[in-house]
Amino acid sequence: MKKSIKIVQFGNPILEQSSEPVTFPISISEEKVINKIITYLTKNPESAAGLAAPQIGVSKKICGVRRLDLENRETNFDILLMINPSIIWTSNELSTEWEGCLSINYGDLWGQVTRPERVTVKYYDQTGVEHEETFSGYQSHIVQHEIDHLNGILFLKYVTDPSELYTTEELKEILQ
Ligand SMILES: [Zn+2]
Repeated sequence: MKKSIKIVQFGNPILEQSSEPVTFPISISEEKVINKIITYLTKNPESAAGLAAPQIGVSKKICGVRRLDLENRETNFDILLMINPSIIWTSNELSTEWEGCLSINYGDLWGQVTRPERVTVKYYDQTGVEHEETFSGYQSHIVQHEIDHLNGILFLKYVTDPSELYTTEELKEILQ
């Protein structure tokens, strides 16, 4: 049986480091990282909205996000892979969403995070082509959360009151 990917957990210094930019053409090892990210997101549709390379132990600016704004839950999920992403514009308008992270208590800890409602991101695809895209709402949160990972930032940074972190079980009760 193939071993599943181990997600690096909070406390490991790699999660708090700014990762290395990727140069093109990408290397075989970078290609493997990309495949691992896509495979993980494909296999864990319910629990993973995004994954960044540092979370699988590789300090490189590579991340993947699930396109919850485009998905058709009946058929397939669309995963967007971003290399060297950077936020080039943020809206003044803010939005607050519940966020969790696979690297914090294996995704079983949630907190409310306020971020810009819309962001424009510049990123590169696997072939080195530059793209620019604007995301809004929850999708914008996912994208910002993953880009934060590449800069050594965890969502806990935005939760000022630790008593306002909840397990999935507790959150269900709160949101009832
Ligand atoms: Zn995360």
